[in-house]
Amino acid sequence: MNTTHDPALIDDLVVANHILVNQGVLDGFGHISVRDPAHLQRFFIARSMAPALVQADDILVCDLDSNVIDERGRKTYLERFIHGEIYKLRPDVNAVIHSHSPSVIPFGVTGARLRPICHMSGFLGATTPVYEIRHNAGENSDLLVRNHALGKALAEVLGDHPVALMRGHGSVAVGSSIQQVVYRAIYTENNARLQAMSMPLGEITYLTDGEARATAEMGDQHLDRPWQMWKRDAQQGR
Ligand code: MN
Repeated sequence: MNTTHDPALIDDLVVANHILVNQGVLDGFGHISVRDPAHLQRFFIARSMAPALVQADDILVCDLDSNVIDERGRKTYLERFIHGEIYKLRPDVNAVIHSHSPSVIPFGVTGARLRPICHMSGFLGATTPVYEIRHNAGENSDLLVRNHALGKALAEVLGDHPVALMRGHGSVAVGSSIQQVVYRAIYTENNARLQAMSMPLGEITYLTDGEARATAEMGDQHLDRPWQMWKRDAQQGR
């Protein structure tokens, strides 16, 4: 660490890395960042490493052009531009997760749309956009969001939504806090799994727009309850 910071926020960011691995959202890849509340043009993110192993000393500070401040040879993730470009476009966003969580992948590569199927995932709303990187990177890219232009294009597809899927790659979730974005990433994966299980059984009754809004508000009032449990489970390795 190299600037003044709130140790509790850094601790939550470290814990979030471990929770997301323990809950099957991140594996050896993927990342979470949080905007610096003391410097809104900066964000905190781990150096390029497996999320399960992140500790407070591994957290770096980036500006919104996704350059590491006071770099001293330290590198963060290749896809850091996802974070910087979303923070630029979305002043309401204070935390971002990029993951490859498996159950969402089918909804990025088929015409099937991810839609809220249960009350825990009402935040998804009526539509979840899909980012097609071929529109910007052509047909021979490695699908990675490896520069500002690709990050900006993804942020524009995300728009005002809480989640965007990335075709053949994964997804991005945003929130106003670490606790909210962790909840959203976990329940996006959960919704995708349940929706894929339901589709072969028959026509799905999705949440109405009104139900989605009401359940999202309800969920936001209870973010701390699952957070405390996920934290305990991650720390106990179960
Ligand atoms: Mn990725």
